[in-house]
Amino acid sequence: MSADPRRQVPRTDTLLADPRLAAAGERLGRGLVKGAVQRVQQRIRDGEVAPPQAVEAVLASLPGTASSLQPVLNVTGVLVHTNLGRSPLSPAAVDAITAAAGTTDVELDLSTGRRGPRGEAAIAALLAAVPAAEAAIVVNNCAAALALVATALGQDRELVLARGELVEIGDGFRIPELLTATGARLREVGTTNRVTLADYRGALGPETGAVLKVHPSNFVVRGFTRQVEVGELAAALAGTGTPLVADVGSGLLRPHPLLPEEPDLQSTLAAGADVVLASGDKLLGGPQAGLVLGRADLVQRLRRHPLYRALRVDKTTLAALEATLRGPLPPVQEMLAADLDGLRARAGALAARLTEAGLDARAVDADARVGGGGAPEHPLPSAAVSLPGSFAELLRRGTPPVVGYVEGDRTLLNLRSLPTSADEQLAGAVLAAAAR
Ligand SMILES: *Cc1c(COP(=O)(O)O)cnc(C)c1O
Repeated sequence: MSADPRRQVPRTDTLLADPRLAAAGERLGRGLVKGAVQRVQQRIRDGEVAPPQAVEAVLASLPGTASSLQPVLNVTGVLVHTNLGRSPLSPAAVDAITAAAGTTDVELDLSTGRRGPRGEAAIAALLAAVPAAEAAIVVNNCAAALALVATALGQDRELVLARGELVEIGDGFRIPELLTATGARLREVGTTNRVTLADYRGALGPETGAVLKVHPSNFVVRGFTRQVEVGELAAALAGTGTPLVADVGSGLLRPHPLLPEEPDLQSTLAAGADVVLASGDKLLGGPQAGLVLGRADLVQRLRRHPLYRALRVDKTTLAALEATLRGPLPPVQEMLAADLDGLRARAGALAARLTEAGLDARAVDADARVGGGGAPEHPLPSAAVSLPGSFAELLRRGTPPVVGYVEGDRTLLNLRSLPTSADEQLAGAVLAAAAR
């Protein structure tokens, strides 16, 4: 008999019949487990896995869920990281998603047995949080909210927008292109750095569908600059019947003491905007959503537009949004509020533990940022664990993956973007990476 492992590859059927793999098949789907079996068989042929270890190797390679998306520890110091799924949801929002994921009363009034208004409770929670709004709807994201506004108010008409607010959001997507894709015409006013009320006034006419203000959430223009505030614009538009729509981007409901430059929904409406738009998964800390709040007649017009049906959100988003608004503070808000002493203490404890295990680890001060969600010029003081540079890749390839960043020849694990409850997991991931 040959000792060549390639001749002793267990049969697929034999492996799939193993009770542990059969159970995994029930949970994850037989196709997914079969794929993992075939990859392990190949590794046996390549001499990387010993045949008696086949089942263990398959089990070790199976994902936690039937989705390939995996939980990641975010130590980038960027609180709202678009590549990492933006806001981590609160446990209350996660529970709400689980409860709503099955059959649920999203559009049925259980007391009468008739069709009910979809997402009524989430809307009520939004209106309770932003009392200046008369009505609200929720769409897929803020880009969808812009598309809906541009279509309903600007199609075959003009949207007046300052040149300094022609923003590229990210990944090559540009707000002016999104707006004109709906059939609206852009009437650009002012220059890159300056716009005046007279510029806006000069652009208004019978063709005007709406005046739009877009918060430049991911950049700042400094120096010889001038903008027209929402309040001034609203006063100038009063009585003209032209709606003023403000895209505030980040999704703060009310002013935040730590982010004085960041606009919020309540203040922007109170200053006179007719409709405000924001992302649900930026500073609000909720699910991906586009929030549209404001004057009842305009919101109703958007709600009645055929395009709304193509942009509305599903039951799990409504559930998570309501729970974010009514439940305990979501992680993003906690991270924003975390105090520096507490962050330093966490970094110190982690570094001490890793040093004890023989690693070259130290606690250092570092800056964190809100992220694509806003406040581009507003560093948040933070603390990090500093490790040798080679750790960045090792950690990224671990389970769970840890995403930090490299500064000079060191890997930094910035703790402001990580919930405190994950520190233990982070220590385990670093020790596991060191052992590889
Ligand atoms: C982020 C952002 C958007 C896009 O929001 P999504 O929810 O990602 O579609 C639009 N406008 C502004 C001002 C933003 O900051």
